Amino acid sequence: MLFAAGCNLRCPFCHNPELVMGSGDLCIEEALGFLRTRVGKLQGVCVSGGEPTLMPNLAALLMEIKALGFAVKLDTSGTAPQILGSLLEKELVDYAALDVKTSPAKYSAACGRSIDHELVRESVRLLQSSGVPHELRTTAVPGLVELTDIQAVGEWLGRVRRYVLQQFRPGKTLDPEYRWRNPYDQTWFGQAAVLAQSWADEVIVRGV
Ligand code: SF4
Repeated sequence: MLFAAGCNLRCPFCHNPELVMGSGDLCIEEALGFLRTRVGKLQGVCVSGGEPTLMPNLAALLMEIKALGFAVKLDTSGTAPQILGSLLEKELVDYAALDVKTSPAKYSAACGRSIDHELVRESVRLLQSSGVPHELRTTAVPGLVELTDIQAVGEWLGRVRRYVLQQFRPGKTLDPEYRWRNPYDQTWFGQAAVLAQSWADEVIVRGV
């Protein structure tokens, strides 16, 4: 897994405060040097963050990774559809995981800053039309993601292929107020999964 430092969002529940406040880059030569020692041992590389699409040299990095024979998984918040679209067009992504933070009404609160949530919908559309396998994923943070938000996400995005509901882990979070917030229990995830099944072909619950 490669982590790009820097992020355009400030999700209060974020578990990577050091990365988020980072410089917005990743040393390509260092990363490639490491990957060259893993040829034949690893099948794929996940490029995560922070937010990888902030990297000015992301396309070049992905090209190099693919030239070494690795498949590429990209983690993104989906707030840069133009960049995502260009990577998809160049066939540099083999699998993508795109964060759907919550319903449109709470999007900016979940991102910790004012965000045009329609950029995320545009990224979802680009993934859907690209044919690249992908998942949309929501971290179920109490207060930011309620059952009504799961319903609203479906109304907002329409039919999707794979939707992942993942457990929120309190502890080291960007906003200290979230460090002691109690995660949802299995019952909540069961109810949320039933709701999501009405608009997602496949629903996965992770980390519960
Ligand atoms: S959780 Fe939010 S702030 Fe943290 S890296 Fe992801 S998008 Fe950025």
